[in-house]
Amino acid sequence: MVFRPIAVLCAAVLGAVACEAEPQPSAPDRAAVDLIVGGEWVVTMDPGSPVVEEGAIAIRGERIVAVGPADEIDAAYEARERLAGEGRVLMPGLVNTHGHAAMTILRGIADDRDLITWLQEYIFPAEVRFVDEEYVRIGTELACAEMIRGGTTTFVDMYYFPDAVAQVVEQCGMRALIAPTVIDRKSPDADNAEEGLAQARAFIGRWKGKHPRITPILGPHAVYSLSPEQLDSVAEAARELDVPMSIHLSESRFEIETMMAKHQQSPIAFLDDRGFFDSPVIGAHGVYPTNDDIGILAQRGVGIAHCPSSNMKISSGIAPIAALLEAGIHVGFGTDGAASNNDLDMFEEIRLGAFLQKVATMEPTALPALTVLEMATAGGARAIGLGDEIGTLRVGARADVIQLDLTDLHFAPIYDVISHLIYVADEQDVINVIVEGRVLMRNRELLTIDVERVKAQAQSLAQRINAELGGNAAGSPDETDDADN
Ligand SMILES: [Zn+2]
Repeated sequence: MVFRPIAVLCAAVLGAVACEAEPQPSAPDRAAVDLIVGGEWVVTMDPGSPVVEEGAIAIRGERIVAVGPADEIDAAYEARERLAGEGRVLMPGLVNTHGHAAMTILRGIADDRDLITWLQEYIFPAEVRFVDEEYVRIGTELACAEMIRGGTTTFVDMYYFPDAVAQVVEQCGMRALIAPTVIDRKSPDADNAEEGLAQARAFIGRWKGKHPRITPILGPHAVYSLSPEQLDSVAEAARELDVPMSIHLSESRFEIETMMAKHQQSPIAFLDDRGFFDSPVIGAHGVYPTNDDIGILAQRGVGIAHCPSSNMKISSGIAPIAALLEAGIHVGFGTDGAASNNDLDMFEEIRLGAFLQKVATMEPTALPALTVLEMATAGGARAIGLGDEIGTLRVGARADVIQLDLTDLHFAPIYDVISHLIYVADEQDVINVIVEGRVLMRNRELLTIDVERVKAQAQSLAQRINAELGGNAAGSPDETDDADN
């Protein structure tokens, strides 16, 4: 626990953001801000003072303008709204570094299968048949509702019809990196990779630099689902358009064996030789990097999205996260799509990610709680290139913050709040969510998404899919036509 006097924090003011150095106690002299958010424990993710007890932050517009003890913040600032901190943790919003939001519509459609069978026999055919713009809008909205409720404020998406994704993000208030998928097969929104890339270029033209919360990027699906020439074309487009890429990378044994058989190289070495990492890249999974691969990822600044639930559920394997972090690689957590997870609960990824490294290394000291929390916030932000903007509570950062209610009985008693956030907390404990200074959830009520409408739309879409697949979406002939599946 470290108290930082407000004057010290003001010395760290970044850019043009103002911060009053000598707070005056009398109300008329207090500086106007939009929002003050308190926290019995303010978890800043600032390495110098990870936890401020009885703290608060002040938010003006889209940014944090002060962080410090609550009494000093209240003395210095007059806010239009104040969210109380008693019994609550205030911390940076969670960063979901890899997912396919609209796949919520396929949640539970085909479980208990390996990645390639699952993709090629179930997911890709179902997507080509059913995914259209309306589907993506409903599925993304459902995902955003689930993510906001669970404390996720930023997500990286890779899917189809990216304009529909962007419109949902614009409306619901989250922050997102949005990648149109480029893949060498007929997809829901393109006949082939060339058409997919042309559309992705047009999408980037429409959104790049146009919206403070939306970053359009490129989404080459994987090394095994694109030819070397197609991968080169996407990488060339990324350099030319100056955008990052998100790619499934070193995810499964199938991917490694395919690349070794075809090119006698690991996927990571293969891409590095082609200059793929000249642009910022978010590699999803990173389950099978060799020691040389880890050197490449570190040297090239490739961010890794660790998706423990998906890796476990499809038996992809266990990513060597402790070794990746040791090498200085930026690693965040991702949920992957809801069809391979099957939920978007980042607190579950955090907890499973910690446990998985401990059992994989047989070292209970692997990935201690604060390291894991760092991955879910500041580390994830760095992995996706937003480390200067989000992921910590500090003056000048964008105001993407969440509050958790620690009064539930599963938190009692409280010795160490960081420990509780990793080993106890779940998504239901999140009570308030703020992105870019705007409250998206207040007292567990979602303010920007009509949840009942979205649930009903998703259910009616699922009923249509189930009916068209013969009342048996998952492919088992014994199941009955049950609309509640
Ligand atoms: Zn994925």
